[in-house]
Amino acid sequence: MDSKFCCCVFFTLSALTFSVAFSELQHEQKILLVSFDGFRWDYIYRVPTPHFHYIMKYGAYVKQVTNVFVTTTYPNHYTLVTGLYPESHGIIANDMYDSTRNKTFSLEDMNIYDSEFWEDATPIWITNQGAGHNTGAAMWPGTDVKIHGKFPTYYLPYNESVSFEDRVRRLIEWFKSKKPINLGLLYWEDPDEMGHNLGPDNPLMDSVISDIDNKLGYLISELNKEKLWDKMNLIITSDHGMTQCSGEKIIELDQYVDPNDYILIDHSPVRAILPKKGKFDKIFAALNNAHPNLTVYKKEDIPDRFHYKYHQRIQPILIMADKGWTILQNRSNSFMLGNHGYDNALSDMHPLFLALGPAFKKNVSKESINSTDLYPLLCYILDIPPLPHNGSLANVKELLSTTAPKAISPSVMSPQSNMNLKVYKLHSYAYFVGVFLGSIIVIVFLLVFVKHLVHSQMPTIQERNAEIAQPLLWS
Ligand SMILES: [Zn+2]
Repeated sequence: MDSKFCCCVFFTLSALTFSVAFSELQHEQKILLVSFDGFRWDYIYRVPTPHFHYIMKYGAYVKQVTNVFVTTTYPNHYTLVTGLYPESHGIIANDMYDSTRNKTFSLEDMNIYDSEFWEDATPIWITNQGAGHNTGAAMWPGTDVKIHGKFPTYYLPYNESVSFEDRVRRLIEWFKSKKPINLGLLYWEDPDEMGHNLGPDNPLMDSVISDIDNKLGYLISELNKEKLWDKMNLIITSDHGMTQCSGEKIIELDQYVDPNDYILIDHSPVRAILPKKGKFDKIFAALNNAHPNLTVYKKEDIPDRFHYKYHQRIQPILIMADKGWTILQNRSNSFMLGNHGYDNALSDMHPLFLALGPAFKKNVSKESINSTDLYPLLCYILDIPPLPHNGSLANVKELLSTTAPKAISPSVMSPQSNMNLKVYKLHSYAYFVGVFLGSIIVIVFLLVFVKHLVHSQMPTIQERNAEIAQPLLWS
């Protein structure tokens, strides 16, 4: 083997090694974004939640996430994937009426599939796919709706009877498929459903929160088992929190206004009122100052901090209950012991935010972010161009790894926790052993190469100039 050939092989192998490593680090960032509906930020302190605390301890944690008004499911989930306020993305409530098109949208009836309601914005899966990547979605709101003519690459049509485990299994299949996804979206209905039924103050909620923690543990162990854990940026968040309501705190609209004078849209605690022709002044006058725990706004007077004014689906009058109060037409309507939708300045309305993975710093916390900031963060990690949005990458950048993203080191995977985390370590050790063996091979190759170089060059140099041959090579 002559030295030129040897040199060529060495540099080719080196280049290959580095290019593979570089592409792993720079071009194959994977994100699994998980939303546990209605998971209030402080639930993780209420009962032992070792899996949430594991992510918190070894990843990034934000104490206060200010979500968007109204603090309900569809507006907030669409904000998370567009970075826009509802007045810009158009999903301004779970139940809407579009007067220009004379169309309704209702989460309650699952009448949510009319594309036009969604097309004021372009969600991240469309941008991701436009950049040549693939997306997989398991029940994330809006992912089974055709938006701008497209669906996610892989998605599950909404069906709440599909178990959490099945949703996880499908996502893992997509991450490992021949056309692998780089972005997975996973939605789970609890603890929202039980929070509504029981009220968040009910001690029975403890077991609901423990169950969510077990589900997170299942997700982590499956990712580990499928050798996806070290590569994954796992982001755990939610759409809103939950507050305790009471049968003592009911505002009955029938006491103040004639139900024949208006159409009532959306559900407590923020309700939109569309007055019938010529009834606007009468309705507004009757409701304004009617109840000490009811705030009434004309559309144009809705405070700027809500970013909830400039969309034609926002109705002429908006009424909002104080925390814990319920607005009903009358007491024949049912009410819930737990609810959300209130002012997004209330801490009870805030969701949680945790993240762990190669793109995030370890053991870092931040006081506050806005839920609109998630979108630019996702685009940055996936290296796709963000569309115009209301978030700020600068506001979340300190959560990100300042060095090149890298796989989670084994030291990070050794928490002093009372849960059994041995399973999470397996892939890290394999990775560590692989890197160690790879380094040995490169060193051995380098030694063989140097030895070969010395042997191949010695005679020539010695023939030309015996006096300088040794100093040149060995000094
Ligand atoms: Zn929700």
